[in-house]
Amino acid sequence: MQTNTKILAREFEYLAPKTLDETLSLLDNYKDKSARILAGGTDLLVKMKTIDLKTDYLINIKNIPELNFIDTADGLKVGAAVSLSRIERIGKVKERYPALYEGIKSMAAIAVRNMGTIAGNIGNASPAADTVPPLITYGAEVKLVSKRGERTVLVEDFVTGVGKTVIEADELITQVNIPEMKKNSGSAFSKKGRVKADIAKINLAVYLEREGNICKDCKIVLGSVAVKAIRAKEAEGLLKGQTVSASLIDKIAKKASEEIKPIDDIRSSVEYRTELARVMVEDTVRIAWERAGGEL
Ligand SMILES: Cc1cc2nc3c(=O)[nH]c(=O)nc-3n(C[C@H](O)[C@H](O)[C@H](O)COP(=O)(O)OP(=O)(O)OC[C@H]3O[C@@H](n4cnc5c(N)ncnc54)[C@H](O)[C@@H]3O)c2cc1C
Repeated sequence: MQTNTKILAREFEYLAPKTLDETLSLLDNYKDKSARILAGGTDLLVKMKTIDLKTDYLINIKNIPELNFIDTADGLKVGAAVSLSRIERIGKVKERYPALYEGIKSMAAIAVRNMGTIAGNIGNASPAADTVPPLITYGAEVKLVSKRGERTVLVEDFVTGVGKTVIEADELITQVNIPEMKKNSGSAFSKKGRVKADIAKINLAVYLEREGNICKDCKIVLGSVAVKAIRAKEAEGLLKGQTVSASLIDKIAKKASEEIKPIDDIRSSVEYRTELARVMVEDTVRIAWERAGGEL
């Protein structure tokens, strides 16, 4: 049983840089000590109160102008300090990236979404993170910047396990880049929690590209069923290049539910999660297919 101290019980130095360059210098200076990035704090501060999380330096990035932008010109680029509630208000997100829109809308209450960020949701590396399955289906990447240079990493490769990512101690996620959606593509997200706005028992995103009655390309990503969000690659293989029909969708849903590795925990049993995944995949593939303009 975790103790909730309800206070930040350990001492740390709070740093509030005003520019990206200043932030990178701080990360470089403190990379051998325990420095942490604070964005909305909706994961980090909870952990600092309930888990023995050692932090000597807390670097707040919320007020850095270079991280506070949204660019919709070619795809979607979102700075690391942008709140989730600001993203859900962009017309293009609702129209072109409905799985991401639905994922964000399913998260917590608006007060949490006013503080929380998409970079924080990825950086926290929870298997239940609600923006991660949509971002993986879209082929999104994070931009990582340090004093040494910059690189981009697919969200799919960024998270490696529970609370684990490929980020180095001196690196910062500066933005999330999502490619432009193709014509005749569709996506959808679904989630089951114990109650509304709860952490997912299972979450799921589907992306499809349609050419006539054929599914040209697809991704099916499930969260909360393994140590990180996973693609149901065998199910994707059954769908790609095939004429889409109700019976094919049934088959895909069954295959996807066989590919996951759910755990028994306080939220659900393995059997329940397996059957739930099957039903959710069936429904969500249908919705994504219809959004791509397909008929059944
Ligand atoms: C009541 C409540 C309900 C919630 N419900 C949900 C839910 O339904 N679904 C869900 O997915 N989440 C939920 N969350 C979790 C949380 O709100 C989200 O994960 C949110 O997106 C975290 O963003 P943040 O900016 O607050 O991250 P922070 O807490 O600031 O940071 C989280 C982690 O990411 C790191 N980080 C943040 N930004 C960067 C960056 N730019 N570069 C490198 N590392 C970075 C931090 O160091 C930290 O390790 C909930 C939280 C609360 C308190």
